[in-house]
Amino acid sequence: MSSAKSASETPRSYKLFIDGKWVDAESGKTFTTPNPATGATLAEVAEGDKADIDKAVVAARTALEGKWSKVSARDRGRMMYKLAQLIEARIGDLAALETADNGKPIKETTYVDLPQVVENFEYFAGWATKIEGETIPVPGQMFNYTLREPVGVCGQIIPWNFPLLMAAWKLAPALAAGNTVVLKPAEQTPVGAMELGSLIQEAGFPDGVVNIVPGYGETAGAALASHPGIDKVAFTGSTEVGKLIARAASDNLTKVSLELGGKAPNIVFADADIEQAVSGAMMGIFFNQGQVCCAGSRLFLDASVKDEFLDRFKERAGRVKVGDPMDASTQMGPQVSEEQLNRIKGYVDIARGEGASVLAGGCPPQLEGDFQKGFFFQPTIFGEVKNSMRVAQEEIFGPVVSIISFDGEEDLIKQANEVVYGLSAGIWTKDITRAHRFARAIKAGTVWINTYNMFNAASPFGGYKQSGYGREMGKHALEMYTQVKSVWVDLSGKPIGWYGN
Ligand code: NAP
Ligand code: MG
Repeated sequence: MSSAKSASETPRSYKLFIDGKWVDAESGKTFTTPNPATGATLAEVAEGDKADIDKAVVAARTALEGKWSKVSARDRGRMMYKLAQLIEARIGDLAALETADNGKPIKETTYVDLPQVVENFEYFAGWATKIEGETIPVPGQMFNYTLREPVGVCGQIIPWNFPLLMAAWKLAPALAAGNTVVLKPAEQTPVGAMELGSLIQEAGFPDGVVNIVPGYGETAGAALASHPGIDKVAFTGSTEVGKLIARAASDNLTKVSLELGGKAPNIVFADADIEQAVSGAMMGIFFNQGQVCCAGSRLFLDASVKDEFLDRFKERAGRVKVGDPMDASTQMGPQVSEEQLNRIKGYVDIARGEGASVLAGGCPPQLEGDFQKGFFFQPTIFGEVKNSMRVAQEEIFGPVVSIISFDGEEDLIKQANEVVYGLSAGIWTKDITRAHRFARAIKAGTVWINTYNMFNAASPFGGYKQSGYGREMGKHALEMYTQVKSVWVDLSGKPIGWYGN
């Protein structure tokens, strides 16, 4: 773990990764990324913008039509396996860097983020040789089959909440299917993606197959989304920016997939195992400092267990260890940025103004030394929230949960669905019929029953409603990165005959 510590003392520096080379930005500009636990500069990074995106798109196109098109599916898979192994060999070091860049606890980067990065590259490496067309039983002396081909050059724009994992979710299916990529990491957390660039090179991918251009969303991101030279744009981030991306892409009718915000209902029925539900509610909202698109930020409690649940939940929330993210026993680190911290503080004021109460937290913790400059916030519980309030409708992206009451199952389903988002939901009950009834009734891309935040590279993830479209992971992700070509062959050897002979 020492490398991130020393990294935070001596800033690292990264260039852009374009066409297999490390290059300065055309403008010569750079930006710095701080360690959110202390505010100290972690790295200085070349600031890509439109000119660099243009170069990267040309490199990706050249690779797509050149060397990459000649690499067999088996070799694509082998390179991806090699990449997974290279990442696995460096888990400790990469986890420490990710923690230094994002602020998430080292326990999470070591045991969740990085292992899932490896899992995604391994899973999709296996798919490379299994992407197949089909033969269609058309009538007459005709042979009709389909080819499943790569979409082409993919622009991928990712957020800061799981920097390396979001890169893996995007890159792995794209590469398995034979596409090339221009990836733009978030300005807050570019370090992991740049490290990945070195490993991609070491794994033997041809130059230009993956290009990584850090920079700001309004410049580099916007240039990528609106670029006429890309065939698809994949985005994860806020619903607000997702709409901008869809608009930017519409001029060229570039294919778009979006994984956006959420405001998930997490529902506890009276018959739930309360201890299990309390731990699930904690996992739902405090994991990764609440900076999770599928966070269980609306906690619906059955009236008959509300008091008991809240007693335990408040007590447990008060015991969450907030502090130095490099400490193995830390359970919550800082928020990613001062901007995010201020946004959360703003929502505490909004909640109070709307008539909600603060049952726990509501302010930054008292920390010592350098951590006083970090962007920390305490686990926070709002009581007396109505589903129509802003804190129940808007994505806060912090360790902040709203407690909401309901009156019977019908009212519950209505309230649970009364939100523009539809990414995920949780339910805690021992009644299996109710659990499955709920799983059908909720408008969300993922439903967790008596568990929360479960993920696997083989299982699809994505949104209903304004939480986006397209599915990441699993075989469904390959649909976003391939297109189907139908090929017709005459087997009769005769003229068509429609116009006579
Ligand atoms: P964001 O602006 O949506 O950032 C996501 C990515 O989009 C970043 O790489 C960002 O670049 C880029 N971007 C921003 N504006 C762009 C534009 N006009 N064109 C193309 N790309 C653009 O999210 P944020 O500002 O970091 O966070 C704000 C809120 O978004 C959070 O409070 C949270 O509610 C939500 N959020 C959701 C998710 C999720 O997984 N659903 C993830 C992150 C944030 P830069 O970072 O360099 O500006
Ligand atoms: Mg931003």
